[in-house]
Amino acid sequence: MTVTTERTFLIVGAGLAGTTAAEALRTGGFDGRIVLLGDEKTHPYDRPPLSKDYLQDKSERDKIFLHPDAWYSEQGIELLLETRVTAIDRDAHEVSTAGGERIGYDKLLLATGSSPRRLSLPGADLAGVLYLRRLEDCEAMKAAFEAADRVAIVGAGWIGLETAAAARAAGCAVTVVDVAELPLVKVLGTQLGEIYAALHRRHGVELRLGAKIAEITGKDGAATGLRLADGRLVEADAVVVAVGITPNTQLAEAAGLAIDNGVLVDEHLVTSDPDVFAAGDVANAHYPWLGTHLRLEHWSAALNQGPVAAANMLGQSAAYDEVPYFFSDQYDMGMEYSGYVAPGHDDEVVFRGEVETGEYVAFWLGDGRVLAGMNVNIWDVTGSIAALVRSGAVVDRARLLDPAVDLDDLYAGTTEGPQS
Ligand SMILES: Cc1cc2nc3c(=O)[nH]c(=O)nc-3n(C[C@H](O)[C@H](O)[C@H](O)COP(=O)(O)OP(=O)(O)OC[C@H]3O[C@@H](n4cnc5c(N)ncnc54)[C@H](O)[C@@H]3O)c2cc1C
Repeated sequence: MTVTTERTFLIVGAGLAGTTAAEALRTGGFDGRIVLLGDEKTHPYDRPPLSKDYLQDKSERDKIFLHPDAWYSEQGIELLLETRVTAIDRDAHEVSTAGGERIGYDKLLLATGSSPRRLSLPGADLAGVLYLRRLEDCEAMKAAFEAADRVAIVGAGWIGLETAAAARAAGCAVTVVDVAELPLVKVLGTQLGEIYAALHRRHGVELRLGAKIAEITGKDGAATGLRLADGRLVEADAVVVAVGITPNTQLAEAAGLAIDNGVLVDEHLVTSDPDVFAAGDVANAHYPWLGTHLRLEHWSAALNQGPVAAANMLGQSAAYDEVPYFFSDQYDMGMEYSGYVAPGHDDEVVFRGEVETGEYVAFWLGDGRVLAGMNVNIWDVTGSIAALVRSGAVVDRARLLDPAVDLDDLYAGTTEGPQS
């Protein structure tokens, strides 16, 4: 009988957080078994291009993959694709897969990401109703936009607006419907919501805002558009539903881990079980700097939380405490947002630079401090904006709004921490 003392670190979810964790385990010196389990068909890839360059046929398929296929075996990472984990037995330190396998672990990372929220309206199951999360969704959407004359999009959030831009680029007439009065208003507020509404109108998108959907209409099993609650019809050959996502917490919940808007973890990304970690979209992590838990559905959180979880699986004491960051590209408007504004916070938005020129930085202020900054078509400033936000400094408004003043000169020497 062979007795193996090799340790096994298991990662469920072969997305960005799972893959960066696997990589960091190896670069961090772990020489045991790393098993990366994912239920998708393809090797791990990046999702942002699925609503941008790749959806618009501006980049090659090869470019979206996180590593070349051979990299996983070269690193001694056992990548098991099309393998769905169905249960975690925390007492036995084992997971079960849909194929009936049981795999033991010493440490386990949950990086199961999230899934699009589904509409539960009449017509929601018709052919031609499209969601966007996976590579195959993107490829189906690309084909649908090529074939369609008219596209209806439900939801004026990031994914809805980026797909609207892609459908316009494919030559489709596009209508975006949202119950909110402005695009992105919950995330960015009224002023930026108006800027995004104007951007899309300028590019020929029809926005039906403050509008509720009663039904996805169909004929012969295929979607033909939307019927709004006020009876109006939006005719379409394809309907995109982009109404947010929900974290994939089912496994963690069934295993009895603490759940609250995602898998609850501390700043070390440890769950309520010291041998189980969570990272990426699924993790609701404690941010010491902010003094609160946040579940961020951002690429940068998945990218950077994976390695922090890996360090802690290796017995270190690393904390994830970054200033939240995300980006979006729509038409000729590229932006990066750094910071955090609590929902319902009575904030004020000010602009450094002229909005009309398309190059400016919007700042969200609270009590004279910068809570967040969004640079639009101005690059290489996110480090300075993040540092300014983190400094918690009360800033001189005239200097903040003067593009001639270096952002780094606005907070020197002040490190009071963020808004309460
Ligand atoms: C179209 C699109 C565009 C985006 N654009 C941006 C952007 O511009 N900027 C930005 O900041 N963020 C963007 N995001 C968000 C960003 O991509 C996510 O935050 C990031 O992918 C999260 O990574 P993750 O590893 O946590 O989860 P995921 O990428 O969702 O990976 C989780 C993986 O786990 C698998 N899985 C789940 N359950 C199981 C199970 N039981 N067994 C096995 N495998 C399982 C899933 O199938 C998936 O492959 C975008 C997302 C999408 C979908």
